Amino acid sequence: MPLKAEPEDLCPECEGRGWVIEQDSGAGTARRCDCRFQTLAPRLLAGAGIPARYHNCSFKNFDINAPSPADKDQLLQAKTISQHYVEGFLKPDGAFTESGLLYIGSPGVGKTHLAVAVLKSLIERYRVRGVFVDFTTLIHQIQSTFDPGSPESKREILDPVVNTEVLVLDELGAQKPTPWVNEILYLIMNSRYTKRLPTLFTTNFRLEPDSVTTHDSLDRTPSSPGFQLLSSRISPNLLSRLYEMARPVAIEAEDFRREVQMQKHRF
Ligand code: ADP
Repeated sequence: MPLKAEPEDLCPECEGRGWVIEQDSGAGTARRCDCRFQTLAPRLLAGAGIPARYHNCSFKNFDINAPSPADKDQLLQAKTISQHYVEGFLKPDGAFTESGLLYIGSPGVGKTHLAVAVLKSLIERYRVRGVFVDFTTLIHQIQSTFDPGSPESKREILDPVVNTEVLVLDELGAQKPTPWVNEILYLIMNSRYTKRLPTLFTTNFRLEPDSVTTHDSLDRTPSSPGFQLLSSRISPNLLSRLYEMARPVAIEAEDFRREVQMQKHRF
């Protein structure tokens, strides 16, 4: 239940109404109170659906100090591209950029961390409306609408995903590519493409066969997600659309979670 604001928390200018009446020669003119703008970013962040596990993810706490110099370079490059994306998001004509980013790499390398850091920065800096969705969760939510007693319709679930100003679509390719899953993905991607709305994707699947890393320690058996190609998970028309919609950002580093656990055991 939302907490009721105490009188001392209310904006002294509009007293919580959100509007201020400016005197003129007549009945006055209503304008939005500045406090609405100040509280907008926290409200947009709260409504973006970022999972609790990623609430604190930022550029500041994205660690690029990997043991291997090659990994360090990759992490720095991915972080820099992400920061530049935020810098250049507002075009000189005042419109937002239409293209997005596609983070590619094995599980645990920080793809979602960076995508969330971008989304949060865009909300804080430009007050854009943004939504985070994990593709698997989204598919399950849509499936649950088939239940006749479902309180939500497929459209109610998909509308915010399709129409939000910035979308993070986490774990592209994670779902078995059945015709129905492809149809949902096509609907999302094609709608966002035609509306010229940017999307940040993350995926554990490779774009090209030769972009497989040479880390011996990583699981590179052909059945592991790190080895499989995205083309085996999404249809060719979606793949070509993806190339048009997002700039690939490869992160080929060690699994950060595993590294953190190993560090703990060393001490
Ligand atoms: P991926 O999306 O690549 O599977 P995540 O972004 O989910 O990986 O990262 C897993 C966890 O490790 C998250 O809690 C994330 O914040 C953290 N993490 C990953 N890489 C880094 C990094 N370079 N610096 C700080 N935290 C990281």
